[in-house]
Amino acid sequence: MFEKILIANRGEIALRVQRACRELGIKTVVVHSQADTEAKYVKLADESVCIGPPPSRDSYLHVPAIISAAEVTDAEAIHPGYGFLSENADFAERVEKSGFVFIGPRPETIRMMGDKVSAKDAMKAAGVPCVPGSDGALGEDPVEITRIAREIGFPVIIKASGGGGGRGMRVVHTEAALLNAVSMTRAEASAAFGNPAVYMEKYLENPRHIEIQVLADELGNAIYLGERDCSMQRRHQKIIEEGPAPGIPRRQIERIGNRCADACRKIGYRGAGTFEFLYEDGEFYFIEMNTRIQVEHPVTELITGVDLVQEQIRIAAGEKLSLRQRDVVLRGHAIECRINAEDPYRFVPSPGRITGWHPPGGPGIRVDSHAYTGYFVPPHYDSMIGKVLTYGDTREQALRRMRIALSEMAVEGIQTNLALHRDLMLDANFIAGGTSIHYLEKKLAGLQ
Ligand code: ADP
Repeated sequence: MFEKILIANRGEIALRVQRACRELGIKTVVVHSQADTEAKYVKLADESVCIGPPPSRDSYLHVPAIISAAEVTDAEAIHPGYGFLSENADFAERVEKSGFVFIGPRPETIRMMGDKVSAKDAMKAAGVPCVPGSDGALGEDPVEITRIAREIGFPVIIKASGGGGGRGMRVVHTEAALLNAVSMTRAEASAAFGNPAVYMEKYLENPRHIEIQVLADELGNAIYLGERDCSMQRRHQKIIEEGPAPGIPRRQIERIGNRCADACRKIGYRGAGTFEFLYEDGEFYFIEMNTRIQVEHPVTELITGVDLVQEQIRIAAGEKLSLRQRDVVLRGHAIECRINAEDPYRFVPSPGRITGWHPPGGPGIRVDSHAYTGYFVPPHYDSMIGKVLTYGDTREQALRRMRIALSEMAVEGIQTNLALHRDLMLDANFIAGGTSIHYLEKKLAGLQ
């Protein structure tokens, strides 16, 4: 096992990784920007290195500074968390070439999954069901593009192969709008991602977002750890996640989960990962794979009892998976609410000093947050300041506990989206379960 790990991230995930390291008896180095010098998790780490000024590109995305920090502190491995450099294949490669272990998949795997056309090709080959669409990237021939769209059937969606973060996509409802949409998406993709390749998919009108968590070791073992329903989104940003997904037959989850584990073995996947699917009319359609730990990983931890971050570290150290598929038993239900520093209905970020931080507690409550009374939320980064999770024997109990937790919780000095979460926990359709990815935006539009 490693003696020392460098954490190349900030906020709640930097604290989460630190806790996993501590339990494994591993020393931690945290790198941070000048905006995060006072953060409590920086002080809690065994060592910390300031790697630059507040803007991410000068600090959390500044590869040479991070590698130097690992060198001067004698760290053996680097945990990238989520966001920032976590899915950057060039970074993973630099880490390994510099003699450190990257806690994540091989750089080639990250590269393959980062390109949506090659990811989809690999998944099709591995037997994972995908959204019907073009065979690879679209060519230049307008007649051929039109033929493909007719065959798929309108509406279709044009997506950038190099896209990410919900950008580089365009829905097309009619043949008249098709060719223009393709060339506009191409131009945008070229400017934003340096890759003009686009492809076409059937546009699913009312899907849910269901994802499968996997773990795979270097010895060829792979398992899946159930699913999460992340359909409650605004602008493709998840705000509530839960597991298991309400109303989906277990046999269907088992079938798709086994496909994902199989695909991991086929592509030689290593580490923790997530297969994201759209789910409509009882069918799963793969959209992309995330080759990192996700914000919502604690949902799975609560219902499986597996510490996913510790597993990531063990896998990176070359250890065999500590569980077999039959050891993974789902128990109860978990819900996560992402707490953001923002206006709850206008979504304008609200950075600043937290003058009062009162997290909830009691049975079945987990709070993952780096915030505290007196903490200054910097304006430079993502607005998420923590996650509140509840666990219950049933979904009803998890929901009841979430209502209590949110009623106990108070954050003073800045605005948060707590009020929105309190509303949603009383929303009849959410309570019934199974709302689509468009539900929240439609609800918010109705409130305007
Ligand atoms: P990104 O990497 O930018 O997150 P994804 O491929 O994961 O891109 O798609 C992001 C979101 O776009 C999905 O969660 C879904 O809301 C929507 N989307 C993508 N593909 C389709 C599709 N074929 N039909 C309907 N919605 C889609």
